[in-house]
Amino acid sequence: MKPIQMVDLTGQYQDFKADLAESLQQILDTAAFINGPEVKSFQAELEQYLGVKHVIPCANGTDALQISMMAAGLHPGDEVICPNFTYIATAEVIALLGLKLVLCDVEYDTFNLDPARLEALITPRTKAIVPVHLYGQCANMAPVLEVAQRHNLLVFEDTAQAIGAEYTYPDGRKATAGTMGKAGATSFYPSKNLGAYGDAGALFTNEDAFAAELRMIANHGQQRQYYFDRVGVNSRLDSIQAAILRHKLRRLDTYIAARRKAAAFYDDALQGIDGLQIPGRAPWSTHVFHQYTLRIAGGRRDALQAHLREKNVPSVVFYPLAVHQHPPYAHARFRDEDYPVTMRLCSEVLSLPMHTELTEDQLAYICEAVRGFLR
Ligand SMILES: *Cc1c(COP(=O)(O)O)cnc(C)c1O
Repeated sequence: MKPIQMVDLTGQYQDFKADLAESLQQILDTAAFINGPEVKSFQAELEQYLGVKHVIPCANGTDALQISMMAAGLHPGDEVICPNFTYIATAEVIALLGLKLVLCDVEYDTFNLDPARLEALITPRTKAIVPVHLYGQCANMAPVLEVAQRHNLLVFEDTAQAIGAEYTYPDGRKATAGTMGKAGATSFYPSKNLGAYGDAGALFTNEDAFAAELRMIANHGQQRQYYFDRVGVNSRLDSIQAAILRHKLRRLDTYIAARRKAAAFYDDALQGIDGLQIPGRAPWSTHVFHQYTLRIAGGRRDALQAHLREKNVPSVVFYPLAVHQHPPYAHARFRDEDYPVTMRLCSEVLSLPMHTELTEDQLAYICEAVRGFLR
């Protein structure tokens, strides 16, 4: 059996190695490194794949989040709500822009923003909500959008972990993750479900005017070359990453299917074990399994992780701390007791290896190692 890795991208590369070599050679021959034809084609192909009007490529997912808030003209002191259980980038850009960070607790079963807790956090200064589609499954968007509409708030989706996930509205309409709010921000960091071979990211929006603002902010705030209308940032996707992403986008549905197959194996082998809960499934979303995340009760999570390490099974705690427990984000207004679900998840979650190259013997070995500890 091959050694088990948390993320393994080697098989994907072998599959399009020859085609990619050709694309890269062409970029080198034409020296179209920035904003070349590969970037334009990738943008158009991703718009088509997601069913969204505009894709605006940029340098990484954190920039994408920042650009969305800058383009919307949020000002220091404006309040922005995001989940307390997320990757730091979501909260980081809010703090970086001088906006007031407001943290919301999450749902235990889906790990995502709890819409029932939003209303209590809204003040006259609230300007935006940033739901995160954590681990590959959409947050409960209909109630988030309803609260946002009622209070005239913007919604920016952090879809760095959920590209390709599909949300179903209560009336049956469907939309892909990142295309439901004012804008969506995603990351193509190598380990993400659609990963480049370096840093890359993108924004999505269905609004023509806002797309123009996003493009302008990502390009130093200029609409016409050397005429700068707003303070922007320098955030570009380069042609080499775009070429890689095009080859992988064509295979994204196959990658998602492979992740779902691994998840189904885990589900079958691990459900019904005392002290362990398999990932909850939201009825409103498909799951693209960026992570397969267990909840281990009774304070045994770290011991299970140590046991797995001994068996050469990697696992990761995404995330060991709530946002407000990190020193730069700690503030008297954030109290542990206001975030019971987040705090509980931080002590219970454990993500198992999840990628497109997992074999059945590896999956069986991993599950046996988990069962061996908990039985
Ligand atoms: C990866 C990630 C980001 C940031 O993306 P980068 O490309 O690394 O800047 C933001 N939010 C979430 C939830 C992520 O998982």
